[in-house]
Amino acid sequence: MSIDEFGLGDWWPRPDQAAAGGLDHPPPDQWPMLAAKWLAAGFDSPQLRQLAAFRAGDGAALMHVLDLMPEALRSIGFDPAPADAEFTARCQRALNVVQHDLDITGYSQYRMRALIGRGWPATVFPTLPDGSYWSGSQGMSRELDGPLLLFSAAGSVSATLKEVHEIEWPVCAVHGGHSENIWDGEDPVDLISDVAWWLCTTAGHALAPVGQLTARLAQTP
Ligand SMILES: [Zn+2]
Repeated sequence: MSIDEFGLGDWWPRPDQAAAGGLDHPPPDQWPMLAAKWLAAGFDSPQLRQLAAFRAGDGAALMHVLDLMPEALRSIGFDPAPADAEFTARCQRALNVVQHDLDITGYSQYRMRALIGRGWPATVFPTLPDGSYWSGSQGMSRELDGPLLLFSAAGSVSATLKEVHEIEWPVCAVHGGHSENIWDGEDPVDLISDVAWWLCTTAGHALAPVGQLTARLAQTP
């Protein structure tokens, strides 16, 4: 890959692509160079010039770059909000499938809401009613859809309950969980033949496809 005079490689998003999620690829320290490239291509606004003036390597400036980019994009007519809203809604639909399993196993008070985190790349985290979430979970990224998105949603919900409330969920009704140390269990979710499945965290067998858990297969509180 060749690097041009702006320090960017062969592919760089145009403003319309950037507003549609293309910024998940170039890291934020390249965004000022990207803004310079857009200026050179004929786009112009005070916000875009401000963004282009940042220099890489300044940590404080980097957080500013994350905030300034949406403003810069809007200032030249490309609002990233609709693409982010579509992404968040897609993640919420996956969380709603996982919510069925929470509800049916007696954990309905943990209502999971899709919230886009502040940071890069754009990641949606399941968020509890009190606003708490765990940014250490893998979360859901924009390129995911279908079974992979559901797999990611299920894993993130399970990890969030574990980190925020120290609850191991779901737990196999036959083999039980890890009441001595909830961190001992195996991963609770896997992709099997392109379907997201809950696994027994003790014996490793498949429990049920995500969204089809029952109070007979999994322990209830
Ligand atoms: Zn089991």
